[in-house]
Amino acid sequence: MNNPFSVANQGKGVYGVLARATTLAQRYGLSSSKMDSAFEQLMLILNEFECSATLPVTAKPLSRNLSSVHRLQSQGIELAVHGNTHVDYSQLAFEQQFDQIIHASQIFKKSGLLASGFRCPYLRWNLDTLKAISELGFEYDSSQALAWDVAAGKETEAYHRVLEFYHAQMAEEYLSLPRMVGDLVRIPYCLPDDEALVERLNMDNRTGISDIWLAMLDRIYSAGELFTLGLHPERSFQCKDALYAVLEKARSLSPTVWIARLSEIAKWYRSLGQVTFSSWVHNNGATHVNVHAPREATLLARSVDIQGPKKDWANGYEHVLSNEIVLKSERFPWIGLAPDCPDSMKSFLKHQGFLVENSSNPTAFTYYFQREFFDSKDERPLLAELESEDSPLLRVSRWPSGAQAALAVTGDVDAFTLWDYGLRLFNS
Ligand SMILES: [Zn+2]
Repeated sequence: MNNPFSVANQGKGVYGVLARATTLAQRYGLSSSKMDSAFEQLMLILNEFECSATLPVTAKPLSRNLSSVHRLQSQGIELAVHGNTHVDYSQLAFEQQFDQIIHASQIFKKSGLLASGFRCPYLRWNLDTLKAISELGFEYDSSQALAWDVAAGKETEAYHRVLEFYHAQMAEEYLSLPRMVGDLVRIPYCLPDDEALVERLNMDNRTGISDIWLAMLDRIYSAGELFTLGLHPERSFQCKDALYAVLEKARSLSPTVWIARLSEIAKWYRSLGQVTFSSWVHNNGATHVNVHAPREATLLARSVDIQGPKKDWANGYEHVLSNEIVLKSERFPWIGLAPDCPDSMKSFLKHQGFLVENSSNPTAFTYYFQREFFDSKDERPLLAELESEDSPLLRVSRWPSGAQAALAVTGDVDAFTLWDYGLRLFNS
């Protein structure tokens, strides 16, 4: 198995590792009391904004600090599995990964702790990781790094190196949204997180971190996407003003930002894939539409002549207040897909809340697509095409309860004490 110290080396560079070593003693103590204070600081802010967070925890240190973890769970924090030991899973064979992850799950279960999600140590995963966690029944993975271009002029070589180390995708190309991979929901992890800001971009002033995260929130809110704000609890004090600023801003926006834990986001994302609708055309030419969606779903309409109550929403959409509607439109205001379009395209559109119908009649719908291939690189351009016009469109909102965007506070717990950190060198 890998030496985790050498893995850390690749990510941070030698100077980064040495610099980190000097700060470890400030963050961790011989007991978990320093980390417990850091958790309390995090909880103070989360409680003020009536929200929670998702903390993936490495199982071995968790097993040595059960009282701290039970306290977190009882306070409503969602726990997720962050490996059994803190090693680079992408370097392990499938069987080794499977053994590590099943062992971690057993530690959680034996300790009475719930965890339906997974995040790889160092955000380093491969297809075997996804296979292992799918077979073990995890609901979601949150190991894919997604970098936002918000640090222009401040970027360092160390930051570029860590983006490479994480195999980060760039947000200009990839959506900051959950994605189905087989049966698994994959939720991206946004960068820069606290660690990148403090240790790679050398931002030790609170304002700098706030500015970066607020810029990310602005971009993500406009796009209606998901901000997974990465904050390792060990830096709760250092980043408290920035976290406060982001949550305060998020709570002030209208339409709202849905602040949720990753398991709730995964569950909601799955439920959008189950939305169905039926339609029929009346003798007088009006179209009846009945949308079967989760209770929290919001029906949105753009440039559609709808009889019935509705109110303004955002981005040219109206919020339709009933799921059974009558509308007048030359073409059906939803998306037609040619029969040979890949299933991945239909699944993607449905999970965004679009109403989709397979049809060989290209003129029956506002939008009609005929494509042989569709992969994750095609997603952002397709959404841009759908959102750039004001052609008639009826859809379900991407987020529940009329929210425009989503935010999840999440950060890994690799260690609770200096002992835990030291034991990482021995894969324990
Ligand atoms: Zn970690």
